Amino acid sequence: MRMPDLIAIEEKTFYGIAVSPGIAIAPLHVIASDTAIAPDAYHIPDDRINTEQQRFGKAVHITKKQLHELEKRIRTISGEDEARIFEAHQMVLDDNSLINKVINAIGKRNLNAEYAFFAVMQNFLEAMRRVPDPYLAERTVDLEDVCQRVINNFDRHHTETSAISPDEHHIIVSHDLTPSDTAMIDRNRVLGFATELGSINSHTAILARSLGIPAIVNLGDALIRLKTLSLCILDGYAGKLIVNPTEETVAHYKKLQSEKAAIRLQLEAKKDKKSVTLDGTDLILSANIEFNHELEAASASGAQGIGLYRTEFFLLNGDDIPDEEEQTAAYIEAVKASAPHQVIFRTLDAGGDKLPAEPLDEPEPNPFLGWRGIRVSLDRPEMFRQQLRAILRASAYGKIGIMFPFISGVAEVRASIEHIEACKAELLLEGIPIGNEIEIGAMIEIPSAALIAHHIAKEVDFFSIGTNDLVQYTLAVDRVNSHVASLYNPSHPSVLELMRITLLASQKHGIWTGVCGEMAGDIYMIPVLIGMGVQELSVGTHQVPLIREAIRSLKKSDCEDLLKEIESATTSEEVTQLTRSFAQEKYPHLLDT
Ligand code: PEP
Ligand code: MG
Repeated sequence: MRMPDLIAIEEKTFYGIAVSPGIAIAPLHVIASDTAIAPDAYHIPDDRINTEQQRFGKAVHITKKQLHELEKRIRTISGEDEARIFEAHQMVLDDNSLINKVINAIGKRNLNAEYAFFAVMQNFLEAMRRVPDPYLAERTVDLEDVCQRVINNFDRHHTETSAISPDEHHIIVSHDLTPSDTAMIDRNRVLGFATELGSINSHTAILARSLGIPAIVNLGDALIRLKTLSLCILDGYAGKLIVNPTEETVAHYKKLQSEKAAIRLQLEAKKDKKSVTLDGTDLILSANIEFNHELEAASASGAQGIGLYRTEFFLLNGDDIPDEEEQTAAYIEAVKASAPHQVIFRTLDAGGDKLPAEPLDEPEPNPFLGWRGIRVSLDRPEMFRQQLRAILRASAYGKIGIMFPFISGVAEVRASIEHIEACKAELLLEGIPIGNEIEIGAMIEIPSAALIAHHIAKEVDFFSIGTNDLVQYTLAVDRVNSHVASLYNPSHPSVLELMRITLLASQKHGIWTGVCGEMAGDIYMIPVLIGMGVQELSVGTHQVPLIREAIRSLKKSDCEDLLKEIESATTSEEVTQLTRSFAQEKYPHLLDT
């Protein structure tokens, strides 16, 4: 096992993957938000190793005593079977290999006892979670329970306190962050975040870009080497986390920060300029949002409406899915705030790496290939219609689009449209007004849908290409798995070919096509999309000013020439080389902003 360096007071740089540009300078707050029980992690000096090992022994002893008492009590109240659960819990703590691993982690790696125990338990748990076996899933819950209990039983006398004041600016470093954690980040206090896990197209990274929070993922086992309150610099351009920076480093980054801020201000000042190419092709540049509270920023950025409202974040955020009235109110608010532009509501896209629509009996072995997107809605017609009715009711207040996620074929589109028609008829009978500017769209994010885009085009008014998933499903690369992050290649010729097929089908059938995946906000890929004839780009709010300027710096005819060259490229590397030198030539000042 590798020995971590002791927490350094000298400057130290940790490297990860840059997923959201920007620079943040603030104290660190080390947390492990993926679990409520995660203790603070810190290093101990050699002369405290014995004390820490004894603290661990004591916590285990107390826990075993508690469990023994519980076992006895439960046996009298509920019987033998229930009591056995607590017997099994005690056996976990009798496992010598576990105890030795923790003792070693304290002694050899100078870890504080709580974190040493927690880290060892997490290794066991992660190994168990990887096996899709219902028996092991139950054992996982037992282990989590024991883990929580032992951590609660540590004597806190020796624990270092490392609290961060609630209203202080800080940078979060954690093992992982869920998309919901990220969406809830208080932008006024959290200046940046870094995680040990993660990949560039996880929803966590997407949200960071959208919110304009500098972020790094895939830092490896950095957590244990960091300490809350240490000053640090997060460089979201280069993917670096610099802890305890020297005065020189701070001065360098402060200068860089103000240069970038000045460029950003210049771009933001052009919010009322059209997103039109130099040779006169108008594009719609809209924003992706997850919650209504983002509407104000979207409109302030000059976005022409909402091209992707990821309704699942709003719908699955609380204990229950909001009812029709609550949904209607939220959707009306979105439509009114975006008028005269359109709001495209994507119906619930639960599952995959997002929350499930309802608790599942067993975890899905392959969530990304499982009960996700439109499949869930079609299986739960009541829930689906509740959402459709609410969206239709909002259409009385302005232009809307309804689009379906995770479409794999024509049958799903037809079935979904039937639900819309049924809801319209119901509302009509009930005398509830609906608008007449309603477009229906299909997301093209599964290769099967792209390949039969010419059939789907006959059923809908528009396509929105979800490149995040299209890349994942075309290349068979899990978009959130850091082990295969280097294989996640949006510029792979196969992805571009599927997009080209989609565009050709939409042009032939006279419908429009937009892109709402992250490719739409990728400064290097914009020329490719314009060259293909994409008519709408929907990007994270924070990216709107930059993408508008990129569009305004290009000629469509040049983009078409670039596309011709790209069509004969055989690898992602060749495509990347072409797009990089094109961007370098057309707008060097916009790169790395
Ligand atoms: C996509 O897949 O590109 C997309 C926009 O949808 P999401 O990222 O929410 O899956
Ligand atoms: Mg998607």
